[in-house]
Amino acid sequence: MLSEALKNKYQLIIGLEVHAQLQTESKIFASDSTAYGNLPNNQISPITLGHPGTLPKLNKKAIEFAIKMGIACDCEITRNTSFDRKNYFYPDLPKGYQITQDKAPICVGGEVPILLADGIAKKVKLNRIHLEEDAGKSIHLAGEPDTLVDFNRAGTPLIEIVTEPVMQSPEEAYAFLGEIKKLVKYLEICDGNMEEGSLRCDANVSVMLKGAKELGKKVEVKNMNSFRNVFRAIEHEHERLIELIESGKPIISETRTFDPTTGLSSSMRTKEDLNDYRYFPEPDLSPVHVSEEWLKSIKSSMPELPREMYQRFINEYGLPDYDASFLTESKEIAVWFDGLCSKTTNYKSASNWMMGPVKSTLKELDITIDRFQVGSSSISELIALIDEGKVSFSAGSQKIYPELLKSTGENPMEIAHRLNLIQESDESSLRPIVEKVIAENESKAKEFRAGKKGLMAMFMGQVMKQSQGKADPKVATKLLIELLEK
Ligand code: ADP
Ligand code: MG
Repeated sequence: MLSEALKNKYQLIIGLEVHAQLQTESKIFASDSTAYGNLPNNQISPITLGHPGTLPKLNKKAIEFAIKMGIACDCEITRNTSFDRKNYFYPDLPKGYQITQDKAPICVGGEVPILLADGIAKKVKLNRIHLEEDAGKSIHLAGEPDTLVDFNRAGTPLIEIVTEPVMQSPEEAYAFLGEIKKLVKYLEICDGNMEEGSLRCDANVSVMLKGAKELGKKVEVKNMNSFRNVFRAIEHEHERLIELIESGKPIISETRTFDPTTGLSSSMRTKEDLNDYRYFPEPDLSPVHVSEEWLKSIKSSMPELPREMYQRFINEYGLPDYDASFLTESKEIAVWFDGLCSKTTNYKSASNWMMGPVKSTLKELDITIDRFQVGSSSISELIALIDEGKVSFSAGSQKIYPELLKSTGENPMEIAHRLNLIQESDESSLRPIVEKVIAENESKAKEFRAGKKGLMAMFMGQVMKQSQGKADPKVATKLLIELLEK
């Protein structure tokens, strides 16, 4: 562990390159399916394999998805965009080159707002977002001398989101990735699953003396399959780079790989033996013109963005920031909650149900809300029963809600009747109970009148007991005050 003083001497700088697999049905330059998990080499047309005489044909959806992301990130959309060849030799790259975008990427500039745990908001500047094709997968089976190659993934459309070197802590990088994941999921252009490789991240890390004008030499870390590991890899590089500088050793520009089990990184290749990619314009694809009408129709098909939904929940439903940010953390929850709010006007109570019982249930059963067995109408009915004083909040949350989870087919009112939970909020039927309680506790009533107001809880307890827990506390309190102070 480095001392805080040493860490404070240097500024950490991070730039991320995030690849997101686009959820188009077919590949970016061929009609093969992009489905995941099929038997190896079942989605490989001659185009995907780059056989001689074949030509790539651009998938329009892929362009539209990339533009949606660009709009969501406030990028400038390139109206005349084109593709380039990036040449390198690797067994899982069927053509010996990757079709990507170098000179005229589809989106330029832009920024992504992030919110850090301490409530500080920041904007992460983007360099660009470009389109490219994914490679296949090399498979190394234990005990097998040969490497096997599965080309199913080859040609799957990717966007690569490249940030400027502007993030200053692993927390910022973590928050940025969270925002990207949220955005692609709201836009429904990528499933955002990092474990399955639909979202991948390379982290570029450097350190420089605080106040220095020039950035330090960077290293690039690859192969991290979770947000947590990106965080850990950056933390590790941060310390490693400072240690190198402090011990007078040079920093080598290199690509490193992070091992999550040891928490350490090791060199994969240095910049010197990096390929010269010999980029040149892809001769088999014509440049793409994004017309005004096309751009307009993409804009009009944009779903509500997370930050827009967040703002609407605050403005329209009057919710606190905290609630709005919890509710918009995932699109599924946000949409479900929105549906609930069309059936109740007690939005704050609806939000409390989401943040409390519903959240716990989802966590306990390890399910997402699309598999939640209780409908939003049941929750709204429950809210109404409580608000009308028909059942107490505790009966609603501790007795009725668990019954709803059992999917008995009953509505909350039916459950309330079956379990005998309907509160007595009728003054005329509660009055005799309150009178009886006061009569049985004459001396306590005297003390109360003499100023010992703390006895109210005792009276309330008695009324609850004698009504078998069914007295509406509001009505009971009112009657107690009225009769005690008579
Ligand atoms: P390369 O030429 O190695 O591909 P680029 O300038 O294209 O480098 O940047 C690639 C990524 O590395 C970008 O995300 C960028 O923000 C990041 N980056 C560039 N320089 C630094 C640096 N000194 N420290 C941290 N990240 C950096
Ligand atoms: Mg790249």
